[in-house]
Amino acid sequence: MRPRRALVLPLVLAALAATGSAHAAATARVAALQVGLYSHGLYRGPIDGIAGPATRRAVRRLQLRARIAVDGVPGPQTRRALGRFGRHPFGSRPLRRGRIGWDVAALQFELAAHGFPSGALDGILGARTDAALRRFQKWSAVRVDGVAGRGTFAALAAPPPRPTLRLSWPIQPASVGSPFGPRGDRFHSGIDLVAPKGTPVYAARGGKVVWADWAEGGWGFLVVVDHGDGERTWYAHLSRIDVRKGVWLDVGVRIGAVGATGDATGPHLHFEVRVRGASVDPLLALP
Ligand SMILES: [Zn+2]
Repeated sequence: MRPRRALVLPLVLAALAATGSAHAAATARVAALQVGLYSHGLYRGPIDGIAGPATRRAVRRLQLRARIAVDGVPGPQTRRALGRFGRHPFGSRPLRRGRIGWDVAALQFELAAHGFPSGALDGILGARTDAALRRFQKWSAVRVDGVAGRGTFAALAAPPPRPTLRLSWPIQPASVGSPFGPRGDRFHSGIDLVAPKGTPVYAARGGKVVWADWAEGGWGFLVVVDHGDGERTWYAHLSRIDVRKGVWLDVGVRIGAVGATGDATGPHLHFEVRVRGASVDPLLALP
């Protein structure tokens, strides 16, 4: 659909990258490169969109293997050596379920950076990426059709959402074990606060409990509090829950205790902040 107009986008992204003002836009290309290198078994670092030493080393290994000039620079020949994962610049074609390529990897990275991670960043537009794409389309008031075209690309060129409400730490004292953002070949949608099992967990702001139960999908025992203005806080892997769905809480009220329920290797609180469904960095809202 309208491929000629979509072609304009890479130029826009390049311009933004040149000014250094668009974090996500500037790094989606590197993330796509990393996904390509990862899929060829040449890179095992995080898909973080940052061209560090490990990424450059992997590019050289690919160049050596492909018998092209070994300069560590991912030019056209190098991208060709990535096969289907090096093809299709981001924005050059509409993307829908079943598509594979450089642009799909960039889309996955952009969706994650905008608060809609979809599992492994692998350059393959499967069920999870399709679902994340539709959630993002709804969030950004683009037609919800599961096709990333001009409207979706334009919405992704906007900066990622940020929290607007001030929050308190849900654990005190808190130690951040794993921050929000790229983690391995995935994107961590919250922060992990490491604390012994049984450590009290407090509401980070006043609001209404909208979930207080076991939750499928690795969350374990989960509490979700709605603070109004479209903002919610999520507290996952709890060992126990001390509140009921539907009750109103003040900030600092105990909602449960730290545990390792669901997909957790050890006791910690996975704390997440969502703005109309988009995951945002909780550290931006905490003192
Ligand atoms: Zn976590």
